[in-house]
Amino acid sequence: AAQRLANKTILITGASAGIGKATAYEFADASHGEIKLILTARRLDKLQLIKDDLIKTYPAIKVHIVTLDVSKLSTIAPFVTSLPSEFSDIDVLVNNAGLALGRDPVGDILPQDIEQMFQTNVFGLITLTQTILPHFKSKNSGDIVNLGSIAGRDPYPGGAIYCATKSAVKSFSHVLRKELINTKIRVLEVDPGNVETEFSITRFKGDVSKANDVYKGTEPLIAEDIAEIIVFGVSRNQNTVIAETLVFATNQA
Ligand code: NDP
Repeated sequence: AAQRLANKTILITGASAGIGKATAYEFADASHGEIKLILTARRLDKLQLIKDDLIKTYPAIKVHIVTLDVSKLSTIAPFVTSLPSEFSDIDVLVNNAGLALGRDPVGDILPQDIEQMFQTNVFGLITLTQTILPHFKSKNSGDIVNLGSIAGRDPYPGGAIYCATKSAVKSFSHVLRKELINTKIRVLEVDPGNVETEFSITRFKGDVSKANDVYKGTEPLIAEDIAEIIVFGVSRNQNTVIAETLVFATNQA
């Protein structure tokens, strides 16, 4: 794995917490620090702490941190064109930024929450992919890793919009992989089950007790479990694509 990852430039969205952050550490670890990471999210202070820690642990690593709110679509192209030249030759895009807001019946879902979920989980992911795709096509190589969810396969009451966004990620990833079939550009979709991160705190808008209820009586996955799967997929031989992966905690029904 280390050899296949060596010197790659990896862009991760939503890298300030949860699965995105764990994926940054997993890439660093699997490559023994011989890698360049572009870590993006809205909270730059969190990214700064991660960068400082990564550099301390892996002296050879190169880390560029930058604010990117993927829901602000007009900022995506300028973000890509203004990357420092050392980080501009992207090899791997991890479209991880995403969120659920609320767990309510359709009639009660707030319009601003609908917009935020689609802007982030779907339109941001599509726009960033479209922006980086010409670069991948020009060198006929690159990996696109999209975070889907069990929610995109097995929708549940109270999750209409979030589930719809993840179904959209699934269809988009599927078609993109088919369109790129005669190229060396891979599209990997990773669909986690329950993972204990800030995800539920965001979903219940800071209500920690409701968030904790999600995981009560279960042993959920942790972010590192999904990060391992992402890095495993990216570090396969070029002729192999792990197109879709459903990852559950052993005890999740
Ligand atoms: P977290 O809430 O722990 O992390 C989400 C990350 O996304 C944060 O780094 C956050 O950073 C970032 N983010 C949110 N909105 C934006 C935005 N508009 N622009 C840029 N970054 C943004 O959640 P997870 O790590 O659990 O979730 C990661 C992905 O995994 C999501 O796509 C989620 O849907 C998916 N997933 C999660 C599951 C779970 O059970 N946890 C299950 C299945 C899928 P910041 O606030 O700094 O911008």
